[in-house]
This record gives sequence, structure tokens and C-alpha cells, in this order.
Amino acid sequence: MTRNSHLFYQTRARRPMLAEAKGVYMWDVDGTRYLDGSSGAMVSNIGHSDPRVIEAMRRQMDKSTFGYRLHFESEPGEKLAEKVASLSPEGMEKVFFVSGGSEAVESAIKLARQYAVTVGQPSRWKVISRSPSYHGSTLGALALTGYAPLTDPFLPMMQAMPKIPAPRAYLDGLDLNDPATGLHYAAMLEAKILEEGADSVLAFIHEPVGGASTGALVPPAGYMKAVRDICDRHGVILIHDEVMSGGGRTGKFMGAEHWDVAPDIIAISKGFGAGYTPLGAMIAHERFVEPVLDAGGFMHGHTYAGNPLACAAGLAVLDVVETDGLMQNAARIGALLKSRLQDLMQRFPFIGDVRGEGLLLAFELVSDRQTMTPLPKALSAYLELVELAYAQGLIIYSRRTRDGIEGDHFLVCPPMIATEDHVEEIIDKLTIALDQFAAKAGPALAR
Ligand code: PMP
Repeated sequence: MTRNSHLFYQTRARRPMLAEAKGVYMWDVDGTRYLDGSSGAMVSNIGHSDPRVIEAMRRQMDKSTFGYRLHFESEPGEKLAEKVASLSPEGMEKVFFVSGGSEAVESAIKLARQYAVTVGQPSRWKVISRSPSYHGSTLGALALTGYAPLTDPFLPMMQAMPKIPAPRAYLDGLDLNDPATGLHYAAMLEAKILEEGADSVLAFIHEPVGGASTGALVPPAGYMKAVRDICDRHGVILIHDEVMSGGGRTGKFMGAEHWDVAPDIIAISKGFGAGYTPLGAMIAHERFVEPVLDAGGFMHGHTYAGNPLACAAGLAVLDVVETDGLMQNAARIGALLKSRLQDLMQRFPFIGDVRGEGLLLAFELVSDRQTMTPLPKALSAYLELVELAYAQGLIIYSRRTRDGIEGDHFLVCPPMIATEDHVEEIIDKLTIALDQFAAKAGPALAR
């Protein structure tokens, strides 16, 4: 589709104009219906246009749409912070609002740094992260991102941060359920801390359940706890980036709850505002916040932070998640969708792996399932399959990261309100798209 426009995003690719969205469906101006099988970018957790959230926003708009946080506190802000703290691990009582995921990550590393300076550890500034990973597009969050196509052009403008491999057991031929696997990958963190010098390392950040960069990567047995222990041993602050995995999509409010591990600081966004408003938060254990506030304050903030309208929307979203039992539904429907995606592996030998937790699910295409060899880059599977699905009225989300290191993966993450019927519709449309892709790709695919 070509259309002249003053608007631009990443590429020249254009999409139809959105007319309406309700529940799990979206319609373009020509009346074509799409099943939102990726909740946008894993955002629209409670589905589109829930009247209860719209009504809560309307009520707030009638009162006030904006009050600058240095001039006024707001009741929705106070209530939302209380609610978020109650849903967070014990002791994580302090909530700092922002308007998106990158802002939440920036806030997390800046609070960590200011804490270190405040308590007399100014030598600590390095934030170790994993590769591949995605932590945001602003320069601070980008420096933590392990994804060369996004970072390379900007390297001279950023502080290089140390990276360790993400625990991709399925690529390394290791058993996800063997605790030795978790220890193997966690040991890489300890080695990196020692290599850098522990007294220079401020924090370690990772996604408990991976997002776009790894395609719903689930940590191996033993990994989460071993990472927590290593951070404690070396005085390194543990930050969980739950921007995508938080908010209930995995079946629990925080992804890390599946492994019963609490970090020191958490970043959330995406499903927290669920597409009704730009909203995110940094949640910190009070032991990091109090010294910084005592020492003169947190030198960081964004204009729209904690505005009453965004907070009213966030409160209403959480209310819908709880009232409608959507975390339970995400766990139940997620298990069904995962098993139906696994069924597709019989028909399509080029599906190498199906993974994820709750409704944060992905599958990966390969040319050899045994060796997990990626598909040839020239096939552009990550673009092709998405287009074929789109033509069927199914939206999925894809990524191809570096050639030879990993392949094409596809996130299938419908809103948490999805039903059994929606699962079947997704699988039917995906089957058609995969058949079409196989016919087009020909002998390059595993058979
Ligand atoms: N962290 C993770 C894990 C993400 O998935 C994203 C968004 N894809 C971000 C941070 C950045 O969020 P935003 O795009 O809202 O800035």
C-alpha cells in the first residue's frame, strides 16, 4: 500500500487505517476484520474498548485531565500506587510512575545509580544485561539492549554495557528442566561480574519471561534463584524488566512469580495501561528509595508522570483484570494455545520450538529442528509469515535477530480475554498462513 503522508515510523511499510477495535478484534476503514493475535505489541491485555475503563477515564476527564506532579498529587495516582505495591513482592512498596517501558527502565537504572552514590559506592555504574534482549529505545535503555541492528548505529553515543548470553537452552541443546542448565547460564553472570570487577558493577537487568528479542524465552530450572543469589553475593542490584511479562499476561501479575524470586527493582508498562493510556511504573524496594530521598531527592522525572487520567485508566484496567479473573484465564487459555501450537509441529517440521508462559507465547521457524539451524535469511520468514497471516485477518508479531545466532520467531499473544473459540480461529488462520509460506519457500524448508 502506498499513500503520501507526512507521518513516518521505522520503514516505508504502510498499513490500513484503523476504524474500530473491540475485544480481541480490530477493523480497518474498509471493514476488514483482524484478530489481534499479538495484543498490538503485547499491550492490549484486557482487549480493546472495555466500557468500564472508558467510563473511568471519562469520569476522570470530567474532573481533571492533568495536574503536574510537583503542584498536585492525585487520588488516582495514590490509589494506583497502593494497588501496584499490593501486587508486588513484599517490601517493594515504592512506585514511580512513567509513560512507557523505556522510561521505566531508565528510571530503574538511574535510581540504582543514585542509590549507589548515596550509600558511598560511587565506583558502581555498570549494568550487566543479556544478549539478545530488548530494554527500550532511549539511549540509556538501548545501552542495555542486546540486539545489534538496533544498537550499532548509536554505539558512539552510548556507554557500552557488559552483556552475557541469554539462557537459550533450546539452541544450546540443554535440558530446560535440569537445574544444572540454570546454573550453567547463571555462572556466566558471576564470571562477568568478576571479570568487570564487582565494585564497578551496579546492577543486572533481565526479562523474567523474554519478550520480542528472544520470543517468550522461559528461564531454565534453577536460573532465577541462582541469579538472585549471585547478585546478593556481589552487592549487585537485581532489576526485572517486566515491561512485557508484567501485568498478568503470563498468568501471574509479575512473570518472576512463577519462580518465586523477588528482585530489587521492577519496570512495568505495556499491559499495565493496556493500550488505554501511555503508562508505566518503576517499583522499588523501599531500602533503595528512602536513602535517595533523604539525600536530597531522585534526580529524574518525566512531565506526564503520574497524571490523573493515566492513573485512573491504570486503576480501571487492574480492576478489570481482577474482577474478570483474567490472570487465571491467561493461564488456562495460554496452556490451550500452547498445546495447539505444539500440535502444529507435527504438520510443519520447520517449527523448531514452541515456548512461553500463559499468554506470552512464541514459536520459532528453523530449517533443521535437530540442530535448530535458522531458516535462510533470504526467505525473510519473519516478514513473509506475518504478511500471510495478516492477509487471513490474523495479527502476529515477529522478529529476526542476528543471522546464524537465532532464527525467525513469532509471538502469539492475544488479549487475556481470549476464549477457546479465539484459540481455534488463531490456529486455523495460522495453519493456512504456514501452508502458504511452505508452498512459497519450497525446498529451503525442513520436511
Ligand atoms: N522492555 C521490554 C521488555 C519491552 O518489551 C519493551 C517494549 N517492547 C520495552 C522495555 C520498551 O518499552 P516502550 O516501547 O514502551 O518504551
